[in-house]
Amino acid sequence: MFNAHSTEIITGPYGEREEHDRFRCNHCGAHKRLKPGETPEFTCKICMDFICGFCANRLMVDGCTPQEKYLEDMERAITRRLGWERNFREMGR
Ligand SMILES: [Zn+2]
Ligand SMILES: [Zn+2]
Repeated sequence: MFNAHSTEIITGPYGEREEHDRFRCNHCGAHKRLKPGETPEFTCKICMDFICGFCANRLMVDGCTPQEKYLEDMERAITRRLGWERNFREMGR
């Protein structure tokens, strides 16, 4: 049984209530809305988690790119850049 990550409840101006199940795309981290009873359309076969249509398309090109890995890569790139800038400054002295 599919468990939605969260449920979004929208209350209209006349007191009507709309409930939407939502799931988080494991790749880009976007929250996607689902119709009641609907399950996410795409599952990544590598990390075995739900992903959005956009990331499902990207899967062919980029492969499995979970958000955590993306952030790690970014962190590494920033660390590298900071190190490079430090060296550059020290050289200029
Ligand atoms: Zn996504
Ligand atoms: Zn994946």
